[in-house]
Amino acid sequence: MLENKIALVTGASRGIGREIAKKLASCNAFVFVNYCGSKQRAEETVEEIKALGGRAKAIQADVADADAVSKMFDEILQEYKRLDILVNNAGITKDNLILKMKEEEFDTVINTNLYGVYHCLKHAAKQMLKQKSGRIINISSISGVIGNAGQINYCAAKAGVIGMTKSLARELGSRGITVNAVAPGFITTEMTDKLSEQIRQDLLEKIPLKRFGDAKEIAAAVAFLASEEAAYITGQTIQIDGGMGM
Ligand code: NAP
Repeated sequence: MLENKIALVTGASRGIGREIAKKLASCNAFVFVNYCGSKQRAEETVEEIKALGGRAKAIQADVADADAVSKMFDEILQEYKRLDILVNNAGITKDNLILKMKEEEFDTVINTNLYGVYHCLKHAAKQMLKQKSGRIINISSISGVIGNAGQINYCAAKAGVIGMTKSLARELGSRGITVNAVAPGFITTEMTDKLSEQIRQDLLEKIPLKRFGDAKEIAAAVAFLASEEAAYITGQTIQIDGGMGM
């Protein structure tokens, strides 16, 4: 399905990013598995892909660091001369209520979750414009659509990602490049493992499907958006949230 496609998935050392990398590889794309600090876990993602007969390589870069992102794209383009699929998945949380939120907590989340996406978009767009083809999928969040108490930093970044998705879809559409976002609800990963049992129960009350999602359920939608079948979808945000945000 994604034969001969070159893909980059940011933050693919674990969680949703790892499942996206595995899914794209299972569709025959070559996948660059980006990570920031978790080299060993990124290598595990690569090994899992190879064990299933796929092709992948780990690549380090802190997406918040513009120079590091530039070097990562240089390395990819030197090796493969093209990039067909970019999945901006890397993300962090540093939750706090507004009166307690420190500047550092606000800045760090914006730097990774918003600037990080911008840095990667810039390089991918340059290459995809040359190719006159490409697929960009940004991982936003339901929190960026409906808000979430204790997450003004995260929600600002994730709402910003939806805005960037729509703007870039308009900029790149005439060159056959699609740009979409996926907004997951609460998905079982290390990010949500941090939630207390009380918060978990409160959230389940608000989810019509009465469960957290699985990372594979996000990966399936990303693979579809990356495919030829999704050629006429751009500028959209697909909510995969068990109905929570409707
Ligand atoms: P996770 O398990 O905490 O994994 C986060 C990934 O991002 C790791 O691979 C991490 O790699 C990478 N990362 C963090 N900072 C980075 C940086 N500066 N540069 C490059 N990579 C970086 O998180 P997850 O739950 O899979 O979430 C993945 C994405 O989905 C995030 O954007 C998150 O906001 C979004 N999302 C998650 C949920 C959910 O319920 N889980 C819901 C909505 C949206 P290192 O360990 O190497 O730093």
